[in-house]
Amino acid sequence: MDTEVIVAGAGPTGLTAALELARRGIGVRLLDAAPAPFTGSRGKGLQPRSMELLDAVGGVTDRLVALGRTHLPVRRYGPDGVHDEPGRGREPTPDTPWPTSLLLPQWRTEQVLRERLAECGVVPEQGVRVDDLTADDHGVTVTTAVGPIRARYLVGADGGGSTVRRRLGIPFLGETREEMRMVVADVELEGLDREHWHQWGSPAPGAYSWVALCPLPASPTWQLQAGPLDDREPDEAVLAEIVGARGPRVRLRSVAWRSVWRLNVRMVADYRVGPVFLAGDAAHVHSPAGAQGMNTGIGDAVNLGWKLAAVLRGVDEALLDTYTAERLPIAAGVLGISTELSGGAMWARTAEQVRTTSQLDLSYRDGPLGSSDDGPGPRPGDRAPDAPVGDSTVFLRRREADWTVLTTDAGVEVPGATVVVAGEAAATTYALAPGEVLAIRPDGYVGTRGDADAVRAWLAPLTARRGTARVA
Ligand SMILES: Cc1cc2nc3c(=O)[nH]c(=O)nc-3n(C[C@H](O)[C@H](O)[C@H](O)COP(=O)(O)OP(=O)(O)OC[C@H]3O[C@@H](n4cnc5c(N)ncnc54)[C@H](O)[C@@H]3O)c2cc1C
Repeated sequence: MDTEVIVAGAGPTGLTAALELARRGIGVRLLDAAPAPFTGSRGKGLQPRSMELLDAVGGVTDRLVALGRTHLPVRRYGPDGVHDEPGRGREPTPDTPWPTSLLLPQWRTEQVLRERLAECGVVPEQGVRVDDLTADDHGVTVTTAVGPIRARYLVGADGGGSTVRRRLGIPFLGETREEMRMVVADVELEGLDREHWHQWGSPAPGAYSWVALCPLPASPTWQLQAGPLDDREPDEAVLAEIVGARGPRVRLRSVAWRSVWRLNVRMVADYRVGPVFLAGDAAHVHSPAGAQGMNTGIGDAVNLGWKLAAVLRGVDEALLDTYTAERLPIAAGVLGISTELSGGAMWARTAEQVRTTSQLDLSYRDGPLGSSDDGPGPRPGDRAPDAPVGDSTVFLRRREADWTVLTTDAGVEVPGATVVVAGEAAATTYALAPGEVLAIRPDGYVGTRGDADAVRAWLAPLTARRGTARVA
């Protein structure tokens, strides 16, 4: 073996997967076909649940929050005048420290993930494309221009056009809607204030009848989205025309990146073939409406990362089967909500849609590690909320080890887990009965709850360790 896990693709999904492995001391090589990191803004909305998932990865969320912004007001220009809408979002609460999506260009999010990964000793190998692969009972070998590389497992996080998926022969089921196209570009311009997300019109017939210009934080650029296209290539001259039509003082200065986006709604029927896994856009693509793509990829990577690490350190391989079982229904749901949103006004969302797209309510309750019992508080498979504990919080204490056990009884010991003694606040949030013990999974979902013996028995096969493991 050249390494324990190869991750193909250093987008947000592959970077998160590599980080989840590297910080647990697993040998990982992260290969990316592109000569350099991608510089376009693409996914500019980091959802609340992603911020929670990345918080456990050692301070990543604090760094992202310092760069991004929330509550950006919207200024709509319509036939009946200009209307300002205050920025949407909720105030933090003790159980949800990041309730509002964070605006940040995707390249910045990736940059922060790369910096954190480098702290764990892994640097993406740019310009190393996975051209082919062969898998057997003992591992997988990928073919690259720098020679064959062999590992126990391969994670295909190589985007919508995934070579890994194609080489596995896994169909990408769904449809491409050529008629639903828009131009997306990062531009510099003058004549508009950067304190609003400026939006004109709504999806309708007529070339460029809707235009959105969003100032990107931590960057001098704006993300332009506009459609429907006419038969011209949306080059710099067309972009200058679109921008210039916004007002007498509005002028395009430069174009840093531009792309034509087509609606693709596709997903695979299985995320795993033997030692090879698919994650992120390689497994599911859909409309950017609702800002779900990057976030769902990060969720895949976090779900898979701890499971791969556990199995490589001696836990039964059957744990890996829970990856498809837990994540495939999530992708199916995301395809539904993003298609629903892209069919209407892309930005006008109901409170219920905002809640759905925050991904805070995603649950694995119906999965193989979940439980459908209806007791009070979060049940096995549900998101584990934050809560104050002493002078710390559940989320901060979760950074100490993979498994966290919450209990009101200071005498409880559970091998392989950090035991956190819940005071009144955490006991209320989790509806913990006196003497009840609750285990939180490494990815921040409730694992199980019950008496101490039952929790120890449930956890033992999932924490078996071979060799040294660390959590950085
Ligand atoms: C206009 C637009 C707006 C969007 N807005 C949002 C948003 O607000 N929120 C959101 O969550 N998502 C959004 N998305 C979607 C988001 O950008 C994607 O879902 C996200 O980039 C997927 O991440 P990924 O890591 O799975 O794949 P990618 O980001 O596509 O990364 C794949 C990587 O694999 C590499 N690669 C490809 N082939 C190979 C190979 N054979 N070997 C090795 N490496 C390879 C590529 O170079 C690339 O670096 C938007 C997308 C667009 C286009």
